[in-house]
Amino acid sequence: MMMSLLIDDLEANSVPGFWDKQIQRADRLAKPRGSTGKLLEFYAELLRSQKEIYGYFLSGQESLPAGNLEEDLVLIRNSSLPLLRTVAMYGPEPLAAEAQILMNGNRQLLDERLLGYWRSPSDIQFFEKALLQPYTRWLLDTGISLVGRELASGDRACPYCGGQPQLSFLQARESTAESGNRDLMCATCLSAWEFRRVVCANCGEERPAKLGYFHSPEFDHIRIEACDTCKRYIKGVDLTRLGHAMPLVDEIYAAPLDLWAREHGYTKIELNLVGV
Ligand SMILES: [Zn+2]
Ligand SMILES: [Zn+2]
Repeated sequence: MMMSLLIDDLEANSVPGFWDKQIQRADRLAKPRGSTGKLLEFYAELLRSQKEIYGYFLSGQESLPAGNLEEDLVLIRNSSLPLLRTVAMYGPEPLAAEAQILMNGNRQLLDERLLGYWRSPSDIQFFEKALLQPYTRWLLDTGISLVGRELASGDRACPYCGGQPQLSFLQARESTAESGNRDLMCATCLSAWEFRRVVCANCGEERPAKLGYFHSPEFDHIRIEACDTCKRYIKGVDLTRLGHAMPLVDEIYAAPLDLWAREHGYTKIELNLVGV
């Protein structure tokens, strides 16, 4: 009994637990169908295949990552099939066709795309982002430093991998007055770092008059955080209002807010994996 409790405990706090929590939340929020439900159904399938990729990395523990993508490419290539299959099966048409090409094409094609993304990431490179999320997360969790990736400096980029912020979130915890409990989550390695509360996550604007917030009663715990200086925005998830939300998934759930932001002339700092 004790033993099984212990194992359950370990399981919940283990790193694969991270993927399970996202999957459960996506399954739950996908229930009411409609366009957002479809996005979340697809995202849940993507998360399942990312978990599988992550599990593949973990199962080969005798070979730790090099942290250098060129050397680790073979690992990503060997683990990519579940994700490509998932996209071919559940993805929207242009992506599904592309997945088919990548599955049937030569290995070099995918390798080149991954290396290109590593040097200069873009949020519209879906497959690169989807495959490198579990990889960078694995590097982070095994404590390996990244080699050969130019890190952007400053607190607006992920201190671990240099990635852009995907979202911001507020949580209740012992706070340093400075951060006011606001964190940014990295779009690449999915880790979080503390960030000041009233500052644009893109350009660093601090004047409150230049920073706008948009909130809709439909999504009580999520808001648009927009900047009138750089015209960029990010979504913020407030975990003090809804403690069991999963920022990565709830951010997609609130896709209608992105529509509002776009209509008002703001561009997202980083599109999420499903392209919203
Ligand atoms: Zn990162
Ligand atoms: Zn700004």
